[in-house]
Amino acid sequence: MQEFIQKIIADNKKYIEKGTLPAYIPELTKAKKEALGLSIVMLDGKEYHGGDHRYKFTIQSISKVITLLLALEEKGEEYVFSKVGMEPTGDPFNSMLKLETVRPSKPFNPMINAGAIAISSMIEGRSSMGKVEKLLAFFRQITDNPDLTINENVYLSEKRTGDRNRALAYFMKDVGVIDKDVEGSLDVYFKQCAIEVTTQDIARIGAFLANDGIDLKTGKTLVHKKHIKIAKTFMFTCGMYNASGEFAINVGIPAKSGVGGGILATVPGKMGIGIVGPSLDDKGNSIAGIQMIRDLSEKYKLSIL
Ligand code: GLN
Repeated sequence: MQEFIQKIIADNKKYIEKGTLPAYIPELTKAKKEALGLSIVMLDGKEYHGGDHRYKFTIQSISKVITLLLALEEKGEEYVFSKVGMEPTGDPFNSMLKLETVRPSKPFNPMINAGAIAISSMIEGRSSMGKVEKLLAFFRQITDNPDLTINENVYLSEKRTGDRNRALAYFMKDVGVIDKDVEGSLDVYFKQCAIEVTTQDIARIGAFLANDGIDLKTGKTLVHKKHIKIAKTFMFTCGMYNASGEFAINVGIPAKSGVGGGILATVPGKMGIGIVGPSLDDKGNSIAGIQMIRDLSEKYKLSIL
């Protein structure tokens, strides 16, 4: 396994130059474009790492999986799905199109920005700071990493330029999807996206999902199995946005990407995978990362289908 990790990192470096860094969050253009790293965590706790696995990047949209779990635990399925749908969109992650044109006006799923902002608005707490603290504690527990924290520069950068997300959020307030303070909800969302991680943290999240919500170390159930199943299903159908269908055919495992260059993947009952490669394709997915996970899936026959 260790040798194969080195090999797929070397084999896929060539894709990096074809991608770009996401300029709509200016701070992300400071990322190391040529970084490429991979971690795998097996359910017995064994870990394998390669390449730039110590490189720190912001979790971005991968965080949407974790906030969804927390919202499901706090509010229950019925409430969550009264506000957010269950269908893929086929549109880019930040699209506004279907929010207005398809009735009733509710975001199609929790993996696109609109759906994720609605989910963040559901997290219970008196202040947005309290909500973020709770979220961070949940992330730290799942990754078994007490040092996880928010990259302030990335957070402030997106807060300054995130007008499209702001527009989505205000629209959702108007149609009753968000009933709370919009700026507070956006603040939770921007902060959760700016949590700084390594591939090890991401792979541990993947292993936690693969283990049906049972903490690998303590054996304690942290999240209901049904909620984990819902999260994995959204990852499979919507996790790579408008590339989810192609990814399902070529790779065949639940995964979630982020514009920080990360990919979280989970092989149910087997392992978690964390990848970083900040150079992105035109759909906002790590361009070399997708190729690496494709090689990994082919070699170890990971497709669940
Ligand atoms: N924070 C980013 C945004 O809202 C997350 C998007 C992503 O990672 N695809 O645009």
